[in-house]
Amino acid sequence: MTEQLIIRARSVDDVVEAVGRARREGLGITVVAGGHGPWSRNPDEGMRIELSAIAGIDIDGTTVRVGGGATWGAVAARLADHGLAISSGDTASVGVGGLTLGGGIGWMTRLWGLAVDQLVGAQVVTASGEVVETSATRHSGLFWGLRGGGGNFGVVTRFDFAAHPLPAIVHAEYSGDTDAAALLRATREALRDAPRELTVTYMDVPPMDPSAPAGARLIAVWAGAEEDALREVLAPIGALDGVETAITTPAYRDILMEMPQPDDPDQQPPGFIGGNGLFAELDDDLIARLIAFRADHPASVVFLRSLGGAFGEVPQESTAFPARDATWFVMAGGFDIPGLVDDGARAAIAADWSRIEAGRLAEYGNFADTERPEAVPGMFTGAAYERLRAVKAEWDPQNVFRRNHNIV
Ligand SMILES: Cc1cc2nc3c(=O)[nH]c(=O)nc-3n(C[C@H](O)[C@H](O)[C@H](O)COP(=O)(O)OP(=O)(O)OC[C@H]3O[C@@H](n4cnc5c(N)ncnc54)[C@H](O)[C@@H]3O)c2cc1C
Repeated sequence: MTEQLIIRARSVDDVVEAVGRARREGLGITVVAGGHGPWSRNPDEGMRIELSAIAGIDIDGTTVRVGGGATWGAVAARLADHGLAISSGDTASVGVGGLTLGGGIGWMTRLWGLAVDQLVGAQVVTASGEVVETSATRHSGLFWGLRGGGGNFGVVTRFDFAAHPLPAIVHAEYSGDTDAAALLRATREALRDAPRELTVTYMDVPPMDPSAPAGARLIAVWAGAEEDALREVLAPIGALDGVETAITTPAYRDILMEMPQPDDPDQQPPGFIGGNGLFAELDDDLIARLIAFRADHPASVVFLRSLGGAFGEVPQESTAFPARDATWFVMAGGFDIPGLVDDGARAAIAADWSRIEAGRLAEYGNFADTERPEAVPGMFTGAAYERLRAVKAEWDPQNVFRRNHNIV
């Protein structure tokens, strides 16, 4: 049985003390914020620093200071009282820590960029136990690395974001018995010149349980109150054969899904054979491969999210996040369900996914849910990986922070 030293930090001083002890005793550190990452779910024999008690949210105008262990649901709920929002992910229980350090693709990414593009500063407990304030003008190399380089450089005890006013959103769902390829093609065309207030997610999932929706559907979120504008841009989708449209005007905090970690650590989700990628174009060939993937593998999912807009206007070299020229994020894979999926099916899923991934610009580390050290360079583009190695050498030369997509 694995024994892990667990530190439930309540203050920055606790984190400093824990890091010092890990360094003295030669323990690798697992940092846990929302707990959704693979290293949080799979303990090892090092030290686990849990940050959930460092989760304060302090709002000063549009500057929001968030403790390193907060979750996005808590942030969205607090900001809603002030008419503000930060583009995060789609799930309330996901941590600000993991999602931000890896990038953070959310519902307002075309309007405001990634979560990391809204980050203006951070407080970090470094491997040497120093408490460092960092921003674009203070320890700027470290700040650059934090924006996409994951948890490689220290424990972030506070994230400072620039939030945006968000008075309302419109939420639309297009589902029904429709031709998935036609839906994807129409979505691509609608998004080509769409206002950046609009972000969409396409998904095609098998029936998981009787209450959960299955099949191909499109979810669209418009950042603002302009329901007519959303209807107009997505009119070709509403007009597709078999499509049913449902439009509501919820609060942003209410569209974040609840997906807590299972109480029983042995209740791991089934294995996932597949992966993700940031793609320059959603061309007909990619659409055909995704449709065939879903059709050929019954227990499989296909998931896409639109990029472009503000995401693509952030200069590539200003953060560590890869592939700013991507216009779509794509994820596809089959569940490795014991008894249902045999060796032949496993190999077929893997082969089909590898043909899809061949066209990607980069892999998005936050959705790369297994430890694959050899894959880490492919999570960055241009000179970013070499630059991250230099930042790592400066701030964590002993690789104390190694339970992550590790920069070595
Ligand atoms: C249900 C679900 C929905 C998701 N939806 C989205 C989505 O919409 N968009 C998206 O971009 N991603 C999404 N993701 C992926 C998500 O961004 C990653 O799984 C992320 O790593 C989770 O962060 P966490 O804080 O919850 O996990 P944790 O396991 O706590 O953290 C993951 C890793 O991040 C590092 N880390 C976390 N906090 C800190 C900190 N304060 N200081 C230093 N290092 C830290 C550590 O290396 C840690 O191992 C989703 C994941 C799940 C499970």
